[in-house]
Amino acid sequence: MNCRMSWIEERFRKLYLDYQTLPDVPDVGKNFDAETVVNTLKNAHVQVIHFYARDMYGHSYYNTKAGVKHPHLKKDMLGEMVESCRRNDIKVIAYFGLLYDDRIARAHPDWRAVNTRGKPYIAWTLTPLCVNSPYLTECVLPELTELVEQYDIDGIFLDPIGHGIERQWCYCPRCKAEFKKRFGEKIPRDRKSPLGLKCARWRREIFDDFRKKCCDAIHKIKPGLLVTINNTFCGTRYPSNPPDYVDFLNKEVKMFTGKHVDISYFGRYLATLEKPFHLLGDRCVNLWLDWDLKPTAALKYESAAMLANGATCCFVDKLYPDGTLEGQFYRAIGEAFEFVKQREQFCLKAKPVPYIAILHSEATMNNNDNDISPILAAHKALVESSIHFNIINEDTLLRSLGDYKTLILPEQKCLSDKVIKAVRDFVKEGGGLIAAGSTSLNTETDKQRGDFGLADVFGVKYQQDYPDTYAYFKVTDESVAADIGTLPMHIDGQLLYAKPTSARTLANLVRRAYWKEMPGRFNVGSFAPAGEDTGYPAVTVNQFGKGKAAYISGSIFRSYWKNNRPQTKYLVRNLVDLVTADKLLEVKADAAVEVSLFRQDSALVLHLLFYYITKTLDGPRWVAVEDIPVIHDVSVKLKVAGRPQQVVQMPEKRELKWKLEDGFLSFRVPQFHIHTCVVVS
Ligand SMILES: [Zn+2]
Repeated sequence: MNCRMSWIEERFRKLYLDYQTLPDVPDVGKNFDAETVVNTLKNAHVQVIHFYARDMYGHSYYNTKAGVKHPHLKKDMLGEMVESCRRNDIKVIAYFGLLYDDRIARAHPDWRAVNTRGKPYIAWTLTPLCVNSPYLTECVLPELTELVEQYDIDGIFLDPIGHGIERQWCYCPRCKAEFKKRFGEKIPRDRKSPLGLKCARWRREIFDDFRKKCCDAIHKIKPGLLVTINNTFCGTRYPSNPPDYVDFLNKEVKMFTGKHVDISYFGRYLATLEKPFHLLGDRCVNLWLDWDLKPTAALKYESAAMLANGATCCFVDKLYPDGTLEGQFYRAIGEAFEFVKQREQFCLKAKPVPYIAILHSEATMNNNDNDISPILAAHKALVESSIHFNIINEDTLLRSLGDYKTLILPEQKCLSDKVIKAVRDFVKEGGGLIAAGSTSLNTETDKQRGDFGLADVFGVKYQQDYPDTYAYFKVTDESVAADIGTLPMHIDGQLLYAKPTSARTLANLVRRAYWKEMPGRFNVGSFAPAGEDTGYPAVTVNQFGKGKAAYISGSIFRSYWKNNRPQTKYLVRNLVDLVTADKLLEVKADAAVEVSLFRQDSALVLHLLFYYITKTLDGPRWVAVEDIPVIHDVSVKLKVAGRPQQVVQMPEKRELKWKLEDGFLSFRVPQFHIHTCVVVS
């Protein structure tokens, strides 16, 4: 990215104005006045605005010859907005909706994407089109070209041509013929069919081609124009490096798991990639589905979580159909962006310090029906243990694993020989490793290896799968017993027998009681208690070269995500402590505090973030953050290269007393509200 483009990284306060307006809505934009809108944005400290050029009904909000303007719009909303934003130093990213395109679907019914029965798909009441149809060349490219040539915009936001729609397989005559030509077969029914994985990859290829052609067309006219594709290359379904043709990444948060932890989850992955990114939160509690407003505390909390995890901040608001804004939201977001303004200078171009890494392997994802729960679970366990970490993909692992101190492989079943070699070398040279369950049992193409690819590193040999779906772990070694005690831990899911070759046992694998007498459920309501020892380990540790590798013989991360048993989290935390030889950071607080560590030039910036409280009514989907207490007395031990000049808590500007001992800096943060950062310079 050249310096011309750096505004996307330097501007932390972004807004997205939603305006999907049905064609039947009368008087669209009747009261829209760009000057009034821009004044409101300025007063709320907004630096970048996403504004609609084209909606998903196929209508434009500017004067177009290539496309069709909204039937009831009389103004050039985009044009007026661009002009006014230019004068007020606000950057404009044009929203361009495509592929879910009702106008074109009506004009060209044979371009629609269809299911196995030949019936068109419907998504959110909209009609998706097929990427193999002439839609791209006859509609999208001419409209995009006109937009880029005619308007002085700063960026384009393409939506929704991401991984979600890729998974809706099209069975139209064009797709059938293409697939037949390529594979000599019919398009399979689903991913589980024999050709399923091939078809999934083929779908991804044709979408990549479609996405690339859109971006290339834009860059050909204006090479400096920044392009993003919403929710794409952000690591959930395809954790691989983003291609060169996108300039920045955007991820909607709180859609995926319905929890605030999303912000941290995506931030900790995206911050390891070489692209600027922003996370997109919502004004409404219930996504963009209604017109309500989150409490200001929630907007501040979410902004802080974005900053603390390496993102710039973006929120969704909606224009009323007549083109006016809701004043109450701008008072709230103005307060939240004031909060961001006080903190953003400590985040500018800062990079996460490599410490603990969780591998999110694309090979495992592709062969695993996209189950990301082990990654979410590992993330949750570390965040709640106040451990600084990042989530990395295979590319990052191969490039820079040596920079990290410990690697976690949460049930990462399919690993390539290249990745296995890199992990082996890493541990040999002193790195720490924690692996669980099926990790490395299969190749990257899902072929069984017969034993763990990392068997020598684990110091255990795979025997066979455990013939039951739950068992107990009985910790036998003091080194990992903290907070767990002597109570056997209940673990369910996939378990296996692994025989130590050189590893030492830390916990035993214990059967449930009445194993033989009562196969199946113990009684009406509960599981059976722990019974006899299986003679196999549940957790082991192995010295391999200069490093230590811990192996857990069960899918404890999946189990943790499903059941949230705190003992599982304590075990993970204790293992991190055991295998990490070169400690960097230790944070202790009475309340849950999320921790992240960044380097900004020669300074270290430690973020402390209140870990959310939630009040849910019925069902966990929509959480509301309302009252956030002040956190007191956080003690920190941080490894530093030399004597610091200053240790200051920001934005409070509080100089902290510190002590330097054996290369570790110790200090205490007396209090903070929502978020604070400690700058060590
Ligand atoms: Zn098709």
